[in-house]
Amino acid sequence: MTNTRTCHICNKSLYNKRLDSKTCSASCRSKLFRANQVRSVLVRFRISSEAYIELTIKAFFAGQSISDYLAQLVVKQQ
Ligand SMILES: [Zn+2]
Repeated sequence: MTNTRTCHICNKSLYNKRLDSKTCSASCRSKLFRANQVRSVLVRFRISSEAYIELTIKAFFAGQSISDYLAQLVVKQQ
């Protein structure tokens, strides 16, 4: 496998692009920028204290706050 880099948006080869470029064109770059913008949603969970403790422990071992840990789990579902 070569280390051919491809556009993060449309997967076109970045053969002629600068090493640090992630996209092939200005339009892909703006799409990537929009995709990377952080959007936040405030969610309230109602869980048992056992589940809460389990989450606290998992978040602790992941080195994250509970809300960051939960946010990651939700994002991974997509
Ligand atoms: Zn592209």
